[in-house]
Amino acid sequence: MKRLYYHPGGIVHKEGDRLVVRCQYCGKELGPGIFAPEPCAEKTAWRTEIGGAWWEVSVWNCRANLTAWKMDEDGEDKPVFWKAPGRVREELQKLAEEAVEEAGGALNISGTYGPSEALEKAIARALESGELRIYTEPYRVVTTARFEPELLARAKAYAARRRKPLYEVIEAALRYYLNVKKA
Ligand SMILES: [Zn+2]
Repeated sequence: MKRLYYHPGGIVHKEGDRLVVRCQYCGKELGPGIFAPEPCAEKTAWRTEIGGAWWEVSVWNCRANLTAWKMDEDGEDKPVFWKAPGRVREELQKLAEEAVEEAGGALNISGTYGPSEALEKAIARALESGELRIYTEPYRVVTTARFEPELLARAKAYAARRRKPLYEVIEAALRYYLNVKKA
């Protein structure tokens, strides 16, 4: 498990025959991207590497979202999708919300927050038990297979109207359907 801290911005310096990007606020050497292993003098967020993915808490639309990324040497991100059973998802959700509070943020302030230690441990535990699984492609194949053609057509129309990815619509519908069935 290792953390990389966001820095507000970098300036390229020529040092000897080397090009170095340094934070314009604290002077620390940055890389990959605008990250450094040490926190900035300014209070910023961080991301934590666990199980080969970089984890963050992103707040938008008044909701804390646990997000994961694959990052290349230049700090370029590719999204990582994750999946976990309801109980684990609820625990991660609760911890993500607490991490936002712990960082002095709030659910009505959109932005990126670093995972708390409790959240980092919960992610590591769930990955190790195999309950939390990560994918670099959306798991649309799994979810579409369980849809009747007529429902699938409706989901496609809804996704197009709302400009949402189809797998997201289907996943939400399945979750709703399963909850209704349980009740
Ligand atoms: Zn800095």
